Amino acid sequence: MRTPLIAGNWKMHMTVNEAVELAGAVARLSSDARDREVMIAPPYTALFEVARALEGSNVLLSSQNVCWEEKGAFTGEISPVMLKDIGCSMAIIGHSERRHVFGEDNKMVNKRILGAQKFGMVPVFCIGETLDEREAGHTFKVLESQVREGLVGVEISDPATIVVAYEPVWAIGTGKTATVVQAQEVHAFVRELLAGMYQKNVASEIRILYGGSVNPENVDALMSEEDVDGALVGGAALKPELFDRIIHFQ
Ligand code: PEP
Repeated sequence: MRTPLIAGNWKMHMTVNEAVELAGAVARLSSDARDREVMIAPPYTALFEVARALEGSNVLLSSQNVCWEEKGAFTGEISPVMLKDIGCSMAIIGHSERRHVFGEDNKMVNKRILGAQKFGMVPVFCIGETLDEREAGHTFKVLESQVREGLVGVEISDPATIVVAYEPVWAIGTGKTATVVQAQEVHAFVRELLAGMYQKNVASEIRILYGGSVNPENVDALMSEEDVDGALVGGAALKPELFDRIIHFQ
């Protein structure tokens, strides 16, 4: 049984006060969520206060990235130990903005995943093709290298220790969503790939989220697909009334 996960990526939005207010709203909206999990990823500056605002709620807290080292000369980075210390249990890794705006490649994504797992954080491992790659017919090839290279040396014996998020780059923040057929096709492909890399009963339980302009209008159809186990939501996660409807997908 894969418990659906609805995850909000707040990107570089929200001052501390705004974040605490939004987190409080998400905690209230999620209080009746029994058969699904809810996660939010505020910016680093707000994590500490948001962790306090989420105490007693069932909302999980994630960072938007994480370093692979515990401490040291890594200016501008945040370690998994520091994140866990303030109550952060998950880390988004390999988001398309990290890959395409900040030049993070599969190798760096792999280091981050290994680092997160080493210190007991759950990586939300993002993969996705660009529009050019899709139009050139390279979608599956690109995704396969992202998965294989991103997971080098990553042991998964418990499916709860990793989440994969398929986010077609052309669908992030553009208002364009993959069709349910496109999403299901990729999710099934990724699951098959994982089944070849890990024990089958483990791969079949790893959650694969879809991300890319998820909104109240398309969430039900996406979530009705066999291999879509949740959503990674950007823009709509900043608006409580939209995120509410997404959390309560039917
Ligand atoms: C994201 O930030 O991961 C994302 C999918 O953004 P949006 O929902 O705005 O497309």
